[in-house]
Amino acid sequence: QAKASGRNCYVVFNQQMSADLAARIQLETELRQALLLQQFSLSLQPQVNLNSGKLCGFEALIRWQHPQRGIVAPDEFIPVLEQTQLIVDVGYWVFDRSCRYCAELIAAGLNDVTIAVNISADQFLHTKLPDRFGQILQRYGLSGHHFELEITESTLINNFSETLGMMYRLKAQGFRLAIDDFGTGYSSLNYLKQMPVDVIKIDKSFVVNMLDNPQDYQIVASTIAMVQKLGLQVVAEGVESLAVVKLLQQHQCDFAQGYYFSMPLAETQLLAFVQQVLQQHWPAALLPPATQ
Ligand code: C2E
Ligand code: MG
Ligand code: MG
Ligand code: MG
Repeated sequence: QAKASGRNCYVVFNQQMSADLAARIQLETELRQALLLQQFSLSLQPQVNLNSGKLCGFEALIRWQHPQRGIVAPDEFIPVLEQTQLIVDVGYWVFDRSCRYCAELIAAGLNDVTIAVNISADQFLHTKLPDRFGQILQRYGLSGHHFELEITESTLINNFSETLGMMYRLKAQGFRLAIDDFGTGYSSLNYLKQMPVDVIKIDKSFVVNMLDNPQDYQIVASTIAMVQKLGLQVVAEGVESLAVVKLLQQHQCDFAQGYYFSMPLAETQLLAFVQQVLQQHWPAALLPPATQ
């Protein structure tokens, strides 16, 4: 590499770079073991139907309990899992665990619960995905209708025809499909029009500032309007205040998710949360009186 770059160019490989590289190799090694050592867990973040004011489901979010560093954020390790293809196996683990939660939630009384699961590009294009997901569903006695598979705009754009084919296979199994982080990628509306997508998730970067930033507000409002004109449903993520909830309701946004309603819940918190929901103490108490 250094040689190929020619005599007038220097490839600077300094101490900092070798330290970074060593840290990266260390991270990869630890991630290869994390699945075997059962260091991953899934947290579930509640999603609320803004029309009825009721819990409608959860998004499954992976967590890594590192033996020395404690909980490591997914933004730090998902990209590494993606670059090393480890994401494919971890993704099957995530779906399996999501099914287990789903069966537990149904058994606890949440019959119509939906669980949203994040799917990286390489996972989505894994030819065996529909078969593997089908087997996992069967193991838990579930149907695809309980799940919403979230992909990002970059997955669509980079492999349009393969993505489209996979979407139809998954739709045939009953899965709902969502576009995550909408507005941050390059999705052309022309692609969107051709795809069997059910749900658009407006990226939290627009939602968190929509009260203070008029541009973010316009982006959120017009995205909601457009998505609904296309006959799809819309979720706002990153909802942190009641004022934002009210604004989203004014614009007839279908669903919301964010710290205002709940942090992602660890397994140990989940059943207590479900009890609260079933006793109707959540989220009705948090919604403005006009909507109760
Ligand atoms: P995402 O799918 O867009 O998930 C939403 C992120 O926003 C989550 O971060 C969530 O904890 C955070 N969040 C929730 N409510 C609020 C809020 O009110 N305000 C703000 N500022 N943030 C909020 P998290 O859990 O750190 O996950 C980050 C990303 O990692 C996810 O973004 C997703 O792209 C990826 N990820 C998480 N779990 C998985 C997984 O199982 N598989 C794959 N492929 N990716 C995953
Ligand atoms: Mg997501
Ligand atoms: Mg998102
Ligand atoms: Mg994201």
